[in-house]
Amino acid sequence: MKTICVTFVIALTFIAVSAVAQNVRITPIGSHTGELCANDRAIVFEDPTGVRLLYDPAHNLTAGDDSRLGDIHVVLLTHMHGDHLGDRKLRAVNAGSCANSERIPVPNSMTAEVVAAKTAILVTTRAMAGFVANEVQDILDQPLSICAQPIAATVPVEEACRSSMDVGGIFVAKTAEADQGVEITIVYASHVNNAPPALLTEEQREMLAANGAILEFGPPTGYVVKFTNGLKAYLSGDTGIHSDMRTVVNEYHHANLAILNLGNNPGIYASGAHVINELIQPASVLLTHPNEPATEGGKLRPESRAATLIEQFEPPTHLAISGRTMEFDGEGQCVVRC
Ligand SMILES: [Zn+2]
Repeated sequence: MKTICVTFVIALTFIAVSAVAQNVRITPIGSHTGELCANDRAIVFEDPTGVRLLYDPAHNLTAGDDSRLGDIHVVLLTHMHGDHLGDRKLRAVNAGSCANSERIPVPNSMTAEVVAAKTAILVTTRAMAGFVANEVQDILDQPLSICAQPIAATVPVEEACRSSMDVGGIFVAKTAEADQGVEITIVYASHVNNAPPALLTEEQREMLAANGAILEFGPPTGYVVKFTNGLKAYLSGDTGIHSDMRTVVNEYHHANLAILNLGNNPGIYASGAHVINELIQPASVLLTHPNEPATEGGKLRPESRAATLIEQFEPPTHLAISGRTMEFDGEGQCVVRC
C-alpha cells in the first residue's frame, strides 16, 4: 500500500512538473525594467525543451553578453534598421528616460555582438545574414559559416553559424534530448529594409548619398515560431497591413499568439484592429515597439496610443514589460505573470 502511495505521489509530482514545463517563457528585454518604453523591441523566448531565442537585439542591450540574456541559441533578425539590427546599445539599464533611453553607438551591430558572444545561430534571410557574417568575422576573427545542417541544428552549437534561407524558409532548432524542435519560418513584412548608414563603409555612404539612394538587403521579414508545446507565435517585425496576415499567418500557420510591433510609419496604429480581429485572429496579443512610453509605473498609460488600440482588440492583449517573464500555453493563452 505504501509503495502504491509513493508511486502515486511521484506520478502526481511528475504530472505537476511537466504541466509547468509545458509553457513557453517570454521575457521582453527593454530599456527600463518593469516598463514598456519607446525604444523597446527585444524579446527572449524559451521553449519547454530549453531552446532559447532572441528576437531583434535592437537598442535594448548593454552588450552582446548583457546579463539579462542568459543562454541564447538562436538570434532572429527581422530587418536592417538600426533599431532592430542594433546600431546602438544602452549606456546602462534604466539610463535616460522611458521616452528616450540613453544609447551609444557601436562599431559592429548588436546582432553580430550577440551571435559572437553567445555562440548562437543567426536565423534570417541570406541577404541580411551576409552582412552580419562580415561583422562577426571582424569580432571573432573567423567566418560565420552556414550551419552544418543548413535547415536544422542541435543546440547549443559548438561554433556560431547562420541559416541559409529566405522568406518562406524553415529552420528547426532542437536540443539533443528533445524529440521535437522549435520550427522557425520567415514570413513577409510590408516595410523597407535599408541598412543604417553608420554601419556601412565610407565609400558606400558617399555613393548612396550622391544618388539619394538607400541600400536594401532584400525584403524585411517577420517570423512564425512553432514551439514544442503547440504555441504558434507570429512575430510581426515592423510591418503595415498585408494579405499574408490572413492567408499565410492565419490560414496556413494558424498562429495563436500575435506579437505585434506598433509604430506610426507602417500605419499599424490605424490598421491594427483589422489586422488582429479579422486577419490574424490570434488567441492573444503581445504588444511591443510602441515608439512612446506605453507604461508608467508598469501600468498602461490611459492616454497612450497603445491604450486606444487595445480597446479595439477582441483577444486578450498583454504588454511586453521589460524583465517580466510571462508564460504562454500551447493554445496561445498567457497563464503566468500576465
Ligand atoms: Zn522598428
